[in-house]
Amino acid sequence: MTEEGYPTYLGVTCPKCQSTDWEVTGQRGSGLRAVSGGIGATVTAVKNAYSTKEQEKPLKAKCHQCKKRFPVQPVIATAEETLSAPAELELTREKHFAGSASANWILINGQIVTPIRNGETLLVQVWTRHIYLQLLDVVGQASAQYERFTVEPGEHYERALKIKPRWIL
Ligand SMILES: [Zn+2]
Repeated sequence: MTEEGYPTYLGVTCPKCQSTDWEVTGQRGSGLRAVSGGIGATVTAVKNAYSTKEQEKPLKAKCHQCKKRFPVQPVIATAEETLSAPAELELTREKHFAGSASANWILINGQIVTPIRNGETLLVQVWTRHIYLQLLDVVGQASAQYERFTVEPGEHYERALKIKPRWIL
């Protein structure tokens, strides 16, 4: 069974303590693939017609309140959460000397949207008011730097993304 709509983490809570204060820790060796775009793509979009079947290996998350680790899947955004027009994110992966050759992955609302290279800037369209933004490294480990913020339809937002290279490939 699949549902259609835009993915969101809004309303997804820790299964143990029901906190919304958790972060994605990634999924090492999950065979990551992006849903759209590609290296060099200038504009990509968080996909419409999101299929809940797409992630057979869900990402893992860690609760900040009770420390429980749990698999996390996005849900389908409600009509109220869905924007009337997309907002645009201008995302720059800050240049880092180490690990410069490998593409990292942009995670938005539980969906791996596109790879991004060191120093690269990409535009991403989003269709939900609440955004969860994070970077995954080449093997699927999530950065400790993540952000939850809200956007308005038609607005433009700039964010810098950083990851600490743990493995230099
Ligand atoms: Zn918890």
